[in-house]
Amino acid sequence: MEWTDSISCLKGIGEQREKKLNKLGIYTVEDLITHYPRDYKDRSRLAKINELELDEENTFIARCKGNGETMKHGRFALTRLKVMDETGEVGLLWYNQPYMKTTLKPGEWYLFTGRLQKKYGRKEFSVSEWEGIGEHFAGGRIVPVYPSGEGISQKMLRGLMEDALGLMCGGLPEYIPLWIRKEYQLAERNFSIQEIHFPKTEQSFYDARRRLVFEELFLLQGALFSLKSFLEKGNNGILLKKQKSLEMFQQYLPFHFTNAQSRVLKEIEEDMSTGKQMNRLIQGDVGSGKTAVAMAASYWAIQNGYQSVLMAPTEVLAQQHYQSFSSIFEGLGITTVLLTGGQTGKEKRSALEKIASGAAEMIIGTHAVIQKGVEYHKLGLAITDEQHRFGVRQRSALNQKGEAPHILVMTATPIPRTLALILYGDLDVSIIDELPPGRQTIDTMAVTSNYHDRIYTFIDKEVAQGRQAYVICPMIEENEKLELQSVLNFTEELQQKLKHCVVSWVHGKMKPKEKQEIMEAFAKGEIHVLVSTTVIEVGINVPNAVIMLIENAERFGLAQLHQLRGRVGRGSEKSYCILVSDAKAKIAKQRLRTLVDSQDGFVISEMDLKLRGPGEFFGTRQHGLPELKIANMYQDMPILIEAQKAAEKLLELDPTLSLEMHQGIKVRFAQLMEGRKLEL
Ligand code: ADP
Ligand code: MG
Repeated sequence: MEWTDSISCLKGIGEQREKKLNKLGIYTVEDLITHYPRDYKDRSRLAKINELELDEENTFIARCKGNGETMKHGRFALTRLKVMDETGEVGLLWYNQPYMKTTLKPGEWYLFTGRLQKKYGRKEFSVSEWEGIGEHFAGGRIVPVYPSGEGISQKMLRGLMEDALGLMCGGLPEYIPLWIRKEYQLAERNFSIQEIHFPKTEQSFYDARRRLVFEELFLLQGALFSLKSFLEKGNNGILLKKQKSLEMFQQYLPFHFTNAQSRVLKEIEEDMSTGKQMNRLIQGDVGSGKTAVAMAASYWAIQNGYQSVLMAPTEVLAQQHYQSFSSIFEGLGITTVLLTGGQTGKEKRSALEKIASGAAEMIIGTHAVIQKGVEYHKLGLAITDEQHRFGVRQRSALNQKGEAPHILVMTATPIPRTLALILYGDLDVSIIDELPPGRQTIDTMAVTSNYHDRIYTFIDKEVAQGRQAYVICPMIEENEKLELQSVLNFTEELQQKLKHCVVSWVHGKMKPKEKQEIMEAFAKGEIHVLVSTTVIEVGINVPNAVIMLIENAERFGLAQLHQLRGRVGRGSEKSYCILVSDAKAKIAKQRLRTLVDSQDGFVISEMDLKLRGPGEFFGTRQHGLPELKIANMYQDMPILIEAQKAAEKLLELDPTLSLEMHQGIKVRFAQLMEGRKLEL
């Protein structure tokens, strides 16, 4: 048997089972044996029948005395059977498994797990699991518990693992080069896989797990690094000229670029003028001026006769970008076109025509811009805003729209370096670490709900002076109906309390058009106080809004709170962020304190990561953290750092992976990059 063989070659796997296993992502023998346990149960201690403790889980070996019998008892069919060992005998009980009456053979020995219960007036052992023990039985053990699915029992999975591991006889290829295994003291692969399923000792389990965690992170990181060097090697990028025009662009803007913006533009210029394809991430705190950089790069591409496309995560943001781009580009004779899912058929058709004919030079939109049916005339630059909401797949979809257009991704989520390498390891990173001059620091305070009246008075006063406020209403667990209710109730309360204010609200489920109208009314100052759930779009820019009030602040991630705070402080007026929370927990208070004390996105995200761990830091999977089989990025951070070092060293030593000893790993990286498994 080969590790690449289909699982259907294993005993006991018919079409039905195969399908069910496929659902778990298990297709080949290798998939199967790298389906790692999520937990373990200690069955190494075997009890004797006279030692069975009431209501405790116990495992024991006993001999079947005879056939069993089944009785109806209400909704249940109770099947009973007697077993014995040298210390005595006990009655076994199964619920609704009448076939157990004759499954066990009288006189044979079996291993039973379950609980001794006092029920129906007698003590009986209710069996949760059993197995026959053959000649090879070597005592109880630690048993693995697997991530499972419908119609697949733990027992079946365990049996399959044993069969497969036995048949493979250690025949799995070892692809981590020996020198790396030596340097980082990693156990061998076959040993590790065997031990992760059926650990013999604590030490061997520990060694096995460490190796497999390392392997997973090393592969992920190495594949990303080699993808990057592959992209860099290719000389098939679009070569832009006319650097002068890029320098000229500055004069069309109402401000001077900050040093950080200029530096990043220089990096972009270098990328796009050397004939290689740019793959660059711009990280910059909210308000650091990423859009202006994207605009300059677009302008340059357009002056070279190419189209540029900017993809935003929401309709509202796309609209806003469309307005700021066209306000500058219009005067320069550049045609900007909007394409979103919310447009009418006619609007869309018109946009598509212009995109295909080349009449549209700057294209701005939502996901719609990478959908099928969008034909570009000559795409030279593709930009995505708030990249953390787009995956590699979408990026490569964009890639296929032209002949390898330059790629620029922009994100305001400051991500600690170690994690950024896993998320964006295939990209070059530019950081805008400076805010435009004259920015105010935002006074941030954390208060309890006792302060509500004072807060309302404060908002009233600010609005009387012509300012505006955002209110993020109490958060409700993922339930659209309740969420809507909560926005409505809270808006009503504010309408009563804030006598001099026009209070309105937006909600995620509103039609894009409706949402758009409200956002516009707010931007024009017709609405003073805007209540919403977290749907206040990441990049919204209303400089006249100076208050950000956030209810139940403890329920948000720090990075998210920081983002929300970034909605204010965009004009010349003093701005405030008020975090309302009645949370008593020390850690919750500490987290809000971080925000009060710091305005630096990187400091805040490091702290958030420390206090919460990356799973919660990123919220959900949509942020693109890859799904891992065994590693836990927070708990295994030290291993992650080692794996990154090892991957860097490997590619430094042998950039093209052409050495004989690196052939295994080369194949592995290629498989990962192919896509099916690198679901970033
Ligand atoms: P973000 O990085 O959050 O996308 P934006 O690009 O939206 O930031 O910029 C925020 C605001 O700052 C915008 O109103 C923009 O016009 C302005 N801005 C950008 N760069 C500068 C600069 N160098 N000097 C002054 N204002 C700037
Ligand atoms: Mg932005």
